[in-house]
Amino acid sequence: MLTQVADGVWVRQSAWVWSNAIAVRGEDGLILVDPGIDGSDLNQLADDLDRVGIPVVAGFSTHPHWDHLLWHPRFGDVPRYATTAGAQAASEARERAQALAAESASGVPLELIGLVTPLPQDGGPVPGEIVEHQAHAIGHAAVLLADRGVLLAGDMLSDVLIPLLDPRRPDQVGAYEMALDRLGEAARHVDVLVPGHGAVAEGPEVAARLAADHAYIDALRRGEEPVDARLGPDADWLSGPHHSNLEQARGR
Ligand SMILES: [Zn+2]
Repeated sequence: MLTQVADGVWVRQSAWVWSNAIAVRGEDGLILVDPGIDGSDLNQLADDLDRVGIPVVAGFSTHPHWDHLLWHPRFGDVPRYATTAGAQAASEARERAQALAAESASGVPLELIGLVTPLPQDGGPVPGEIVEHQAHAIGHAAVLLADRGVLLAGDMLSDVLIPLLDPRRPDQVGAYEMALDRLGEAARHVDVLVPGHGAVAEGPEVAARLAADHAYIDALRRGEEPVDARLGPDADWLSGPHHSNLEQARGR
């Protein structure tokens, strides 16, 4: 089901890690941000978009992880964009992304994974402002739609995912601090926040999301164990990434 969260911004959530596919109305048509996940999700998203009745003119991938690099023939053979660094990383990681998609999800069109090109300097068809930073993944970008009061955050500011430090790059604590500062600045212009995974935040929940990620990163910075509601009894699946975060922070 496609839910309209602001003027010209729709979200469809998948069962797989509460992934959010986002459609944004631009000047020439719809831009699909991080569509996913299963083939059946992608098909239903295409059905929902048919009902919206606005053609898809482009895609945008917030960052080069497999679950943010998906596409489906029904969306059309339109350009799919990422930041320059994100597009470079996606082309290098394409085979790995295809393998991960094949083992994690069903019915994904593997041949369409990761076919992203650098977004033009002027943003091309993608509306709003790209907020690029170094946290979580190379070339990670949020999209600030200030005129609609919406921030699309990629894999940041989630109510289900803790910060997931990029294990392959140094000083991710510092990268998260800088990223959260930039996203906090962007969030001053919004009252709706769409994370890559989890619930859409509205109103005061936006500041609460920022505060939760800040608190987690601040604890890592101090060398302490974060106290975080997202690491509850139902979140065994996060203990691996959490321990990897702690190790990276201690090794700094
Ligand atoms: Zn990610």
